[in-house]
Amino acid sequence: MIYLILDSNTWIYLANNKDPLSDNSQEDLHFKLFEKLLQKVEDGSIKILVNDIIEKEWIRNKQSTSELIIKYKNKLKHDLEILKRIQGSLNGAFSDELNSIKIEYIKVFEGKISKNTTHIINVESLLNACVKFKVTSTTKSFCADWAVEKKAPFIGDKKNSMADALILFSSIEKIKTMSKIEAGTFPFTQLHKSIFISGNKNDFGSADNTHKIHSDLEPFLSEIDMSFFLSLPAALNFLDDTLFKETEIKKIEQEIEEFFEEYYCLVCTPSEDYEYLNVIHFSSSIEVLNETNHPVDPNQLELALLDLNEKNQIKEYPTQSVKFGKCCWCNTNYIQCKNCSEIFPITKHDFEIYKCEGCGLFYQIISEYIGSGMFEENIRIISSNSKDELQRRNSTIT
Ligand SMILES: [Zn+2]
Ligand SMILES: [Zn+2]
Repeated sequence: MIYLILDSNTWIYLANNKDPLSDNSQEDLHFKLFEKLLQKVEDGSIKILVNDIIEKEWIRNKQSTSELIIKYKNKLKHDLEILKRIQGSLNGAFSDELNSIKIEYIKVFEGKISKNTTHIINVESLLNACVKFKVTSTTKSFCADWAVEKKAPFIGDKKNSMADALILFSSIEKIKTMSKIEAGTFPFTQLHKSIFISGNKNDFGSADNTHKIHSDLEPFLSEIDMSFFLSLPAALNFLDDTLFKETEIKKIEQEIEEFFEEYYCLVCTPSEDYEYLNVIHFSSSIEVLNETNHPVDPNQLELALLDLNEKNQIKEYPTQSVKFGKCCWCNTNYIQCKNCSEIFPITKHDFEIYKCEGCGLFYQIISEYIGSGMFEENIRIISSNSKDELQRRNSTIT
């Protein structure tokens, strides 16, 4: 049996349900990684150490998975009502075709709902099979001193180094305590081998070889026979090299890297122990209308403005891919400007105009209420003329 310790990003990645809007094609790999990990825990070949930081993170993700399920249910109900209205207005014509569409549509949504429901159960059963413990005040103050001394992993200016340092050092402390209890005395005769996994290669890896643990940390790991791996699939393959192909490992590593771009929420402030968990992940790209890409044509501008109030998209405008994300802690939605990469939260609803602080581009958010206190956002990029016109109209209404 081997102890496994996963860094915070790996946990967030695993616990997160895959966003259906995501343009990422690695969905099956994500679930495969999770399934293989669960298998290894269930057959007793590994035990995962989990502290309270990670447990808290899971509770957050569980909530957002549940919200997604409610979203699907509401969307299905809403769309079926529209279909019913269409059917009614056609006086029985095309009824076979419409029924076939209805059956297929229900199937698609039921598939999504069941996948997410299963994922909640699976992650929970994994967490329940982990060795749980709390980060002690000794580890916290040790890490605080370590950060002041700028020792690895506190090399760069990254905020989440603290979460990962706490995970590593608290796990080392836990393994030592457990070994002492099992062995009764030093040295640790009952010591089990362990593996620490962190994709944060610049902070944890050696400068000359990122696959090797940093020299500041090496003595702590070697004392308890702990190995270091840059990713979970690579660590699992170390235990059983039939699990993943080299190309699959590369794909997962790349996906985790893209998943976390080192952005932190501007809206929420988690309590001190969890301050590093308000990371934003941009898991999906959405196509938005970009009015500024269109050649100026006064007639069409007028048409666009008429349509803004109709919540309809005008196909004549070229679309543009914009990154859409969510804070892992408070669930606030974020947009990353396609022009300048600036991020901003969407905190208000309906017909709000946001100006990108980085480049001055205007984004209009059109929210649609989808029930149970939730909104679905439609986004478009608008010209400053449209912005002025919209603001003029809004001020006349109010
Ligand atoms: Zn937040
Ligand atoms: Zn911008």
